[in-house]
Amino acid sequence: MIELTAARKIWHDHPHAPALAVLVFGVALSFIAWNQVSGLETQVARLTLAGGLVFSLLLSVATLAWQRVQSHTLEAAERLSAQWRATEERHRQMVESVSDYGIFMLGPDGTVRTWNHGASRIFGHQSEQAIGQNHSVFYTADDLASGMPEYALKTAVASGRYESEGWHLRQNGKNFWANIVVTPMHDDAGQLSGFTKVVRDLTERKRAEDLVQHVAHHDALTDLPNRHLLLDRMGMAIKQAQRTQKSVGVLMVDLDHFKRINDSLGHNRGDQLLLKVAERLNAAVRSTDTVARVGGDEFVIVLPDIDGREAARKVAANIIESLSAVIHVATHDLHVTPSLGICLYPDDGADSGTLLKNADTAMYHAKSQGRNGYQWFDRQMLKVVEHKLELEGEMRRALERNEFQLYYQPLVSLSQHRIVGMEALIRWQHPRHGLLLPDKFIPLAEETGLILPIGAWVLRHACIETQRMREQTGQSLNIAVNVSTRQFQQTDFLRMLEDVLASSGLPPEALTLEITESVLAQDPNDAIRLLNEIRDLGVSVAVDDFGTGYSSLSYVTRFPIAKLKIDRSFVSEIAQGSSGNAVTSTIITMAHSLNLKVVAEGVENHQQLGFLGDRLCDEAQGFLFSPALDQAAFLKLAQSSARTH
Ligand code: C2E
Ligand code: MG
Ligand code: MG
Repeated sequence: MIELTAARKIWHDHPHAPALAVLVFGVALSFIAWNQVSGLETQVARLTLAGGLVFSLLLSVATLAWQRVQSHTLEAAERLSAQWRATEERHRQMVESVSDYGIFMLGPDGTVRTWNHGASRIFGHQSEQAIGQNHSVFYTADDLASGMPEYALKTAVASGRYESEGWHLRQNGKNFWANIVVTPMHDDAGQLSGFTKVVRDLTERKRAEDLVQHVAHHDALTDLPNRHLLLDRMGMAIKQAQRTQKSVGVLMVDLDHFKRINDSLGHNRGDQLLLKVAERLNAAVRSTDTVARVGGDEFVIVLPDIDGREAARKVAANIIESLSAVIHVATHDLHVTPSLGICLYPDDGADSGTLLKNADTAMYHAKSQGRNGYQWFDRQMLKVVEHKLELEGEMRRALERNEFQLYYQPLVSLSQHRIVGMEALIRWQHPRHGLLLPDKFIPLAEETGLILPIGAWVLRHACIETQRMREQTGQSLNIAVNVSTRQFQQTDFLRMLEDVLASSGLPPEALTLEITESVLAQDPNDAIRLLNEIRDLGVSVAVDDFGTGYSSLSYVTRFPIAKLKIDRSFVSEIAQGSSGNAVTSTIITMAHSLNLKVVAEGVENHQQLGFLGDRLCDEAQGFLFSPALDQAAFLKLAQSSARTH
């Protein structure tokens, strides 16, 4: 090897030496031959010598030419080799400087051999820390336990490439999401010489994707799973229960009277309340259970892998218990109670849809049973749902068939001791069920929107019939008509009111509209505008069932209201001398100081009447005077009342 290099050097330094050597050798040979043949003056010998000289000359030229070719080839090869070395170096530098990708080589056993800038940036290890380590140090504990580092190398060898996405470890112990590609390398003999590994940090992309996923599967207010994720979880729980032969509990939770709170305190406070409720529900269940929000105040709880009814019952009891404590929202101490419906897989349904429907049915049953409790689903309940649907259909037809009637309950002036007006209360003369009271159909009418045509009918008929009674009796009877929130929000309500007054001939002063506190809470500015317009027509407005909502007296006075009707729950407590006394007294005193008239509802005995009279309550209404009567009976009563005065 050394001789070869020396020879190459001489060759390089004296490129003409061989040709010169051949020429010298030829001339020398010719000279020797000349000496030996000098005696022979033959033509042949001279020619031979001359030929020898020419030959050696040609040989030298040929040697020189060959030599040139050789030296050019060598130079080209050397130039190439140098270029290649430069390219390789540039390549190495390029790989090393790449910072978006971690690119490094591993030995056949997974030991890190090279390390680029990107790898340092992504993993946090400097090259001197990384080189010599096994690549398994970059894997999470879960991946290590499942043999992922070895699997990646093995698969790369078997398939020529291995690619995956997953969590990896940075030097600081934090996880990052990465795409990795492992490619095996082989030497000239085809033996495995190691691997190249290319790593891309996709944590940001993963976070963005996860966020999108999260938003798509969670409720924006409470961050609880939404219906979409709930169905997913239910599906999984059902599959698991099929394997383990266990049950899945499904609880539908609905807050009682949430709408009332929301309407009277505003949506902001309502949202805060829902957030606190969500926290309490989550705290009341196991971490493996799912609490989802599926509607305004509707939550579903899925209990996977339970042994039976007792476990679900306990959770239901826990939830009622946990919601029973006061919830503080801003300056309010709120009491919320839930109604729960429970059903079980597989007993009450084989799929998520059926289970949700049945839990919902059970929940409605719990509401109708007085709320703040739970009910197990029972197939009988489906009959109730069917009945509701049937009732809705019948209610639609009831208007056309003239099955609704108005009853009138007298309003008695406590200072004049006589009937001064009446409240119109709707009844439904049902073809099969007989006379139905409003609580049997008004809630459903409100739910379905049928309250709009029904309410319009009530207003029109009450005005027409009252005007007729006024004419018949000669008394200036005032009529109070209940108007539901939905009706009040109708855009053409005012126009309808004007139309009814005009067509019935009833003086506007003889009409009072009874609204609930929720009307005032919806959108106070809209409500004030409409109430002013109503007042400008000459019609009065009373707040019905006052005290059951959340509005304070000072809130109510922001609105052009003429009257308050104290809810009968306070009046009924007067007899027992409990807190009702104080509430009723306070409402009367404060209302009077604000120039509002007060009507007491549900007066049933003389003790209550005496109490109200003493406190100068303006009017009273209740069974003590008369229940609601049909038009003919009321007319008689009004006439006899007028006669006694
Ligand atoms: P409301 O407006 O508070 O009407 C008073 C209710 O209390 C009436 O029940 C009346 O019969 C009942 N009541 C009156 N005095 C007494 C009493 O001394 N003791 C007891 N225990 N109850 C008494 P009714 O007629 O069943 O109506 C119930 C509710 O249905 C009404 O409460 C009102 O909110 C609603 N309603 C009735 N008619 C209509 C209507 O035409 N439109 C709308 N939107 N709602 C109506
Ligand atoms: Mg009323
Ligand atoms: Mg009332």
